[in-house]
Amino acid sequence: MVLTKKGDLVEEERELLTNVSQGNVEEVERLLKLKNVRINCLDEHGMSPLMHAAYKGRANVCEVLLKHAADVNVNEHEHGYTTLMFAGLSGNKKITRMMLDAGAKTDMVNSVGRTAAQMAAFVGQHECVTIINNYFPRERLEYYTHPQGLETEPKLPPELADQLHRILLATNLNPVKLVQLVQADSALQDPSALTRCVRVLNSVSEHGMKEAEPCETLAIRSHYLGCILNRCCLHLQEKGSLTTLIKGFLKGREGDGFPLMQERFIRDAIKRFPRPEAGLLQQLVRTIAPIEMGHEPTALSVLTQAVTGQVGMLDAEVCATCGEYGALCRCSACKRVVYCGTSCQKLHWFTHKLLCASLNAERLREQEHNLHKNAGLEAVEKKEDVGKTVIIDPVDEPNAVKEESDGKTKENQENQNTRESTGSDTLAGTRAEEISQKVVDGFG
Ligand SMILES: [Zn+2]
Ligand SMILES: [Zn+2]
Repeated sequence: MVLTKKGDLVEEERELLTNVSQGNVEEVERLLKLKNVRINCLDEHGMSPLMHAAYKGRANVCEVLLKHAADVNVNEHEHGYTTLMFAGLSGNKKITRMMLDAGAKTDMVNSVGRTAAQMAAFVGQHECVTIINNYFPRERLEYYTHPQGLETEPKLPPELADQLHRILLATNLNPVKLVQLVQADSALQDPSALTRCVRVLNSVSEHGMKEAEPCETLAIRSHYLGCILNRCCLHLQEKGSLTTLIKGFLKGREGDGFPLMQERFIRDAIKRFPRPEAGLLQQLVRTIAPIEMGHEPTALSVLTQAVTGQVGMLDAEVCATCGEYGALCRCSACKRVVYCGTSCQKLHWFTHKLLCASLNAERLREQEHNLHKNAGLEAVEKKEDVGKTVIIDPVDEPNAVKEESDGKTKENQENQNTRESTGSDTLAGTRAEEISQKVVDGFG
């Protein structure tokens, strides 16, 4: 391969870099066909086209460049930044995964000794940090797709490797989300396929503990995923579908809606980790054991933080159903729970409807209290800010989302919320009445 020199670019290569940055996929494809355009050409700072695309968050362009065999580990940047570092800095999860899939090395450091994960953490891109730290290369599953030793058949049928890899890359350990992942995959709706995946996960877990430098996070994470898949397998054998398992994980206990079965399942899965000497396991047990069921932190949050390194994002809303970050839909009746969308809201409604009215009453009481306590501007600021999220109405399962009965459009509603959050007391009063009406409607 001809070594490319920094800044030594022909006209078309400069054109390529411009189009890469602007995200003009078609132009990029056209230019890459030209003989004098080199896929790994470098600009004055030692940045390749792929680095530019990653930094600018141009996922489509990254795809095209990788298809043309762009080198993901070019390391000529003036400050030692790698393509993966640029992906992490951009905060684009898809691109970060794409670079890892293309073989990006995670342990390379830049001129100030930072890895890609550390760079991403430095600029607050925590989701990218989690993706990098929890990456499991697809090749490591290849081993299981060939018979080893005396085996007559491989542990993992090759056609299940992609499915299992997707599960292994999951960074959201919420049991509901994981069961949903299984449910969404037709190849995994078969108990015997799940049994084989569980066996591989247990083996990955065992290997994690046997390595020269035991990787306890990988060991515990794959053991936990194995527990989830095993539970799915048993449930499928018994009920033929996973819907009731998901509902079981969501069902809140009487009084406070705490999902007891979910908590018990996670605590039990942790306890069943077969290597009691593991330091991380002991730390987990020590943290969780004294916590009473229903108190914070939950076993899920302790486990997530310990094995994925994910730190709670203070300003991020978490879906009450599946635990995904960035949930933007708020229950219109109580405004106390958020969801990723109506499908998650519908799933949760069977249990949330038992609490929705009392949550709303509590919210209104707090609002009232704040109004009395703090006069003027301060009171307005203290009111719950609901302007940022889309409001969705409670749904009566199993029907679709309730239609707006009074013909009010979402836009109107959003305007109203904005007015409320910046707004006048009289408006807030009207809104409260509307909400109580909606709670009534919601119960149908
Ligand atoms: Zn969700
Ligand atoms: Zn509600």
